[in-house]
Order: sequence, then C-alpha cells, then structure tokens
Amino acid sequence: MAAYVGRFAPSPTGPLHLGSLYTALASYLDARANNGRWLLRIEDIDPPREIPGAANTIIQQLASHGLHWDGTVLYQSQRLPAYTEAAQALAHRGLTYACQCSRSRLLPMHGIYDGHCRPLNKTRASARTRASARVSSGAIRVCVEACRPISWQDIFHHACHYDLAQLSGDFVIVRRDGLFAYQLAVSVDDAFQDITHVVRGDDLLDSTPRQIFLLRQLKLPVPVYGHIAVINNSAGQKLSKQNRTPAVTIATPGANLEWCLNKLGMPVPGDMTGAPVEDLLTWAVHHWMPEHVPTGSISVDDG
Ligand code: GLU
Ligand code: ZN
Repeated sequence: MAAYVGRFAPSPTGPLHLGSLYTALASYLDARANNGRWLLRIEDIDPPREIPGAANTIIQQLASHGLHWDGTVLYQSQRLPAYTEAAQALAHRGLTYACQCSRSRLLPMHGIYDGHCRPLNKTRASARTRASARVSSGAIRVCVEACRPISWQDIFHHACHYDLAQLSGDFVIVRRDGLFAYQLAVSVDDAFQDITHVVRGDDLLDSTPRQIFLLRQLKLPVPVYGHIAVINNSAGQKLSKQNRTPAVTIATPGANLEWCLNKLGMPVPGDMTGAPVEDLLTWAVHHWMPEHVPTGSISVDDG
C-alpha cells in the first residue's frame, strides 16, 4: 500500500472553532499514528463566502496547537487551471452539459436535480470545449445517468452505499457564477496531492460518492475515506460560523486539545493535564484508536 498521506482542507470562511479543531485533530492523529504525512490545503475558491485574513488565522491556530503540517500550504485559488482542465476532460467525454434552470425551478427539487437540461445541452456542451470553464452561461453539470451505486469502506462508518441518481442527480461542477464547485476542486486536489486518506466531518458523507464518481471518471486514484461525527451545539445544530460558534482561542491550546481528545474517546490522563501541546499530541498519536471515536451525534455540552 502507498505510504499514508492525509490532509486538512479548511475553507477560509472564518477562524477555526472547536468543531473544526476536532476534525483537524482527528485527521492529524490518524495520519501521524500511521507514520503518514499530513498536508494543509486552504480551499479558497468561493470568494463570496470567505473572510479576509481567515486563512492566516487558521494557519496560526493550527500552529499554536502544535498541529504542524508537512510541506507548503496549497491554496486552491492557485489551482484554477487544473480545475478547468478537469472540467474540459469531463466535457470531452460527453459527460457534462450546461444547465439553465432558474432558481425557482431548482428549489422544489431539494438538491436532487431532475436532469431537465441533459437532453437539451449534452451534445452541445461536449462539442464546445470551453477555453475557460469560467465563460459560462448557467451551471455545468456532470451526468450520473449510467452510474452504478457507489460504495466504500469508511474508516469510522464501515460500509457506505449511495446511489447518485437518488442522492443528487446530475450535479454541478462549475457554478452559474463561474466558480468551480467544491466537489470538482476537492477531487482534483486530493489526487494532485497524492492523498491516500481523507478524514473529515460526516457532514460531508454525501459528498464522498460525488467525489469518488469524479475521481473514477477522471481516472484518478480514490483515497480511503473516514467520516467522524461533527460536534453539535446544545440546540443540535452543527458548530459553524453560521450559528456564531466562537473561534478557538490560541491562548489555551492545551485545554482546547484536551477537550477535543476527550470528545474523540481519548480522555487525557490526570498526569497529562496541563502538559505542553507537543506532549499531549505525542501521547495522543500513541493512543489513537479510530474504533473509539464516537460515530453518533456529539454535543458540546455532554462532558
Ligand atoms: N473545505 C471543506 C470545508 O471546510 C472541507 C473539505 C474536505 O475536507 O473535503 O468544509
Ligand atoms: Zn437545468
């Protein structure tokens, strides 16, 4: 098996909060416990959602928690030619088409596209190789019509199966505003960075089959996936910038790590409490047990 390469891939939509630190830590520990490399990728391809300075804040937060990555940081904003190339490769194979559906037409579909524009545009979109996928009218979708159900063996969830036709239908790879969709960029870059293991929050579980589909269509290797439960607030909502979850403070990195380790099913022994972050992480790497990580919903308040 190829040597382990993991990654943390935050979007700079705000500073890390405890929920994202928890995910970063799980991905770090799984990589280091497997003698793996651990890379950092800033997913800055959605300017309307980004907050100036957030990428640097995240970098500083990771470093102050002792979560040191290997190599240089990859910024997705520097990778647009690679996404264009991937979109073109899919178009050349006749797998994509332009979708002009209005928001009001899409709304009642609840994210499961009905394929309306597929017969109208498929041949046109594939014949016309866009010099840049950004010059677009409407979104570009990839056709999942002939796709069989997608399965993978998850590190934390065991066997997962999804049928893309029911999950999403033909999904967007280039948005109507010309920006590349997360699904395309993340797939291209996981392959580009030779990622072998993706450990992330289970809010992305239903993105994984789309990414496996794209990787297969692009003839790129498919990594091993592991999805851990995301942490909810007391109201049962995922901790996120949207519900104003506070940023993790770099003033108390040890306490923050201990909190996350506790939630990961690894209570820190009394004699380690207050230890430097390097010592906490060394201890955690040695004691990492993926099978002890809770998979049900976790709340900030329970312990
Ligand atoms: N950038 C995505 C996010 O912050 C996560 C990407 C991933 O881990 O695949 O939600
Ligand atoms: Zn459409």
